Amino acid sequence: MRRMVGERLRDVSVLPKAHLHLHFTGSMRHGTLLELAERDGIALPDSLVEDWPPQLSAADEKGWFRFQRLYDVARSVLRTPDDVRRLVLEAAEDDVRDGGRWLEIQVDPSGYAARFGGITEFTDLVLDCVRDASERTGLGMAVVIAANRTRHPLDARTLARLAAQYAGRGVVGFGLSNDERRGRTEDFASAFRIAERADLLLVPHGGELRGPDHVRECLDDLGAQRLGHGVRSAEDPALLDRIVAAGVALEVCPVSNVSLGVYSDLTSVPLPQLLAAGATVALGADDPLLFGSRLAGQYATMRAAHDLDDATLARLAQMSFDASRAPSHVVEAATRDIAAWLA
Ligand SMILES: [Zn+2]
Repeated sequence: MRRMVGERLRDVSVLPKAHLHLHFTGSMRHGTLLELAERDGIALPDSLVEDWPPQLSAADEKGWFRFQRLYDVARSVLRTPDDVRRLVLEAAEDDVRDGGRWLEIQVDPSGYAARFGGITEFTDLVLDCVRDASERTGLGMAVVIAANRTRHPLDARTLARLAAQYAGRGVVGFGLSNDERRGRTEDFASAFRIAERADLLLVPHGGELRGPDHVRECLDDLGAQRLGHGVRSAEDPALLDRIVAAGVALEVCPVSNVSLGVYSDLTSVPLPQLLAAGATVALGADDPLLFGSRLAGQYATMRAAHDLDDATLARLAQMSFDASRAPSHVVEAATRDIAAWLA
């Protein structure tokens, strides 16, 4: 798994990848944030302008609150349907530049409902923008609708029903995001049952700010089929064995983990341990706008931090497709091209 001294390094930005953990507002280009804020006279905090990317730590609730506040400020610059269209197109373009072939972008429509006429209207807009961006860039795209665990579980049920309505029409999964330390996971079980009946992928966040105990709750109470992060499963070998046996994939976002203080540095992100245990891992960027690193950057930083050889990078890329809802022709073409990259 470790790179040999003197081994030739292949270009990681042309390695085909599926991107399974990218939040809507968090995907925005920094330049677009500045431009839209300027257009509407929105004052941005220094940490989003000259001190970008911001220094964050979610080690305590105050730190997470600060992260959320920056996220809310960034969301506030999206004011018109054209802004949304631009965001989705640029996210697609950026993934294509990083070797992306498939993107499952995650959005909580309730955060945009007031400005865009309701959650259904906003979802229609997003799906239209996704179709448009996919056509223009050639990137395969789908949407994960995510509920917010700091809001009432009834809101999550409403979003699960919304996601279910769009199952097979651009929406492929249902998630649960925001601070893992808030809200009770079991209270969201009924929302996940609604999504499950619609054959949506169940992809809650867990195992990032909280450890193995919360990963278990996500598996037992929500029936998680893929975990947003799940990286801290590495702390519990028995749990990790269970995850491997169940085929639950982990959406590991290394730069996000370090930015939020989950790990002190990139070498501490336990990717080698997860891989050694046989876990399916799909690397993701989470929120490039706040963490300053996009899709290929996750592969490049893990290669550098852990001396990963190219066969391991190719395996990571392959696993990202295996864990996705990409159509079979996308997976087959990627599989061929990953093998060609490594040959
Ligand atoms: Zn996330």
